[in-house]
Amino acid sequence: MVSRAEANGVRIFEESPITGWNFKEDGVLCRTGQMTIRARHVIFATGYETQMIHKEPGASLVATYAVVTEPANHLGDWYERAMIWETARPYLYLRTTSDGRIIAGGLDEPLKDGTLQEGREFHQSGKLLERIHALFPRTKRLKAAYAWGAVFGDTRDGFPYIGTHPDYPNCYFLENYGGNGTVCAMMAARMIADALTGKPRPDMAWFSLSRSTKPSPP
Ligand SMILES: Cc1cc2nc3c(=O)[nH]c(=O)nc-3n(C[C@H](O)[C@H](O)[C@H](O)COP(=O)(O)OP(=O)(O)OC[C@H]3O[C@@H](n4cnc5c(N)ncnc54)[C@H](O)[C@@H]3O)c2cc1C
Repeated sequence: MVSRAEANGVRIFEESPITGWNFKEDGVLCRTGQMTIRARHVIFATGYETQMIHKEPGASLVATYAVVTEPANHLGDWYERAMIWETARPYLYLRTTSDGRIIAGGLDEPLKDGTLQEGREFHQSGKLLERIHALFPRTKRLKAAYAWGAVFGDTRDGFPYIGTHPDYPNCYFLENYGGNGTVCAMMAARMIADALTGKPRPDMAWFSLSRSTKPSPP
């Protein structure tokens, strides 16, 4: 993707963390070490880390876990191998892979001291396995082949944040949260590309960074 963009004229600055900004009327000067990158517009697409860039976090971050089992020989009691996603909170979701493994995830919990606890995924993978065994008793000998822990972010209304911010002139923010974040990312990319090329996108207001997501008073 990056090579293709470069072939179309995009200039890539790898290993160049931006340490500060200087907003100008016609663009942004981005500081990286001793160098400055001049941009007409900046799009912040830095995932959950964007929470640390502007002063309103807007989303809540939790720890979430996932496990992949060894291949199972007996999934006959799993109706059509349908994907399962609970509406419960914390939720559990499961699906199978083409080589007969089970992927299960969930068991979200608060981050401890704001960070993901190293090694916690081993404990939680045991709990996820117990849930798999309870739902499908014939898998009770099945063990975990892989286990992960990750930070997961969500907004109160479930919508992404897409758009401008009054303190960051000539910039756009692209913040995707929730379980459909990759879909929102594509939507946001199209909206911002349109806005930058002069095609009005009034629908971007629905995802405004300054929208109120507090529950309405009773
Ligand atoms: C366990 C888990 C399961 C998920 N499941 C689903 C799912 O099934 N379906 C779905 O649609 N979504 C899912 N999501 C959500 C989805 O992954 C995110 O919403 C999506 O990846 C957000 O895309 P993004 O491009 O905004 O950010 P990211 O994909 O997080 O990309 C941001 C990038 O910016 C980089 N970065 C951060 N700071 C800087 C910096 N200062 N300088 C340079 N680079 C920086 C990061 O390293 C990262 O590569 C899941 C998330 C998790 C954690």
